[in-house]
Amino acid sequence: MTWEERWHPLREEWVIVAAHRQRRPWNGETVTRDEPELPVYASDCYLCPGNERISGARNENYNQTFVFDNDHPCVGLEAPPGFPGSNGLYRNRPATGMARVVCYSPQHNLALAELELPEIENLLRVWQQQYVDLGRREEIAHVLIFENRGEVVGVSNPHPHCQIYATNFVFKTIETESRICRQHLSDTGRGLFRDIIEAELRDGRRIIFQNECAIAFMPYFARYAYEVFLAPRRTHASIASMSDAEVADFASALKVLLVKYDNLWQMPFPYVMTLHQSPTDGGDYAAFHFHIEFLPPLRRPNLLKYLAGPEIGGGNFLSDTAPEEKAAELRAQSDVHYKHARRTSTVTAD
Ligand SMILES: [Zn+2]
Ligand SMILES: [Zn+2]
Repeated sequence: MTWEERWHPLREEWVIVAAHRQRRPWNGETVTRDEPELPVYASDCYLCPGNERISGARNENYNQTFVFDNDHPCVGLEAPPGFPGSNGLYRNRPATGMARVVCYSPQHNLALAELELPEIENLLRVWQQQYVDLGRREEIAHVLIFENRGEVVGVSNPHPHCQIYATNFVFKTIETESRICRQHLSDTGRGLFRDIIEAELRDGRRIIFQNECAIAFMPYFARYAYEVFLAPRRTHASIASMSDAEVADFASALKVLLVKYDNLWQMPFPYVMTLHQSPTDGGDYAAFHFHIEFLPPLRRPNLLKYLAGPEIGGGNFLSDTAPEEKAAELRAQSDVHYKHARRTSTVTAD
């Protein structure tokens, strides 16, 4: 077993890699449980077209994507009246904002990985629009777009969707990345994320997929076993400034990555997917490079990465897998979704 620390330049912290070198790589085991066949439409799903939500509002009979204000937002626009504020050690401030839900598809049983490329491109344009619409509001400092996928990250409704938190504050990770990227640019004259992409291209072992405008790789400093960053090659502070050609390439890379994830264990692969975009508070974010981070909680089928003593107690991630090996596993997966492959083989057998 080798112990090694790897520097995470976007978080300014060390990641401890204690990879068991003698352990054979994952041997192809898949999850054998029979997945329930999901219906195209579910009458009790609050995201399906035409259905009524808890608030009493009714979903449109949408046929592509559908965006609505979350019925149970974590943040609202009204700050409590007469907010006291404070200056001492124990400070507080009002947390306000808006929360939205984006349904990817009217089909209850489709995952993002299974959407057709034009549908994924359309979704990326919806994300661009939401970032611009919400970000231009005076009271919004940041737009966080994220998808939690799978029951292990608390999502019981399989209907494909993501969430948006547009807030009057900037989330910690984005604040940290912004500060570090700005510092790196002023120290070196270069973009930090561009330097990371170049380092990954030079090494090559952790690249999952690349095309002309986009690249997906498992970072050298990955904290989770199957952590992947997806980014445009050119620097854009947010998804909003990407051109149509870049959106098209980004959509292809996104689809390939998600299909490989699902194919890995032939199961809907759980993850937390977060768009890292520059804040919209009017600051200087020329150094910020938009990317999506995929943080999957599983190390093996049905085996969670527990955050315990080192992570929660000590504050550093301890990874027991080498990113180079995990990237090779992922890269080796087919680009055809296993559900599609099964359907095709059934048809052929008939
Ligand atoms: Zn549904
Ligand atoms: Zn990031």
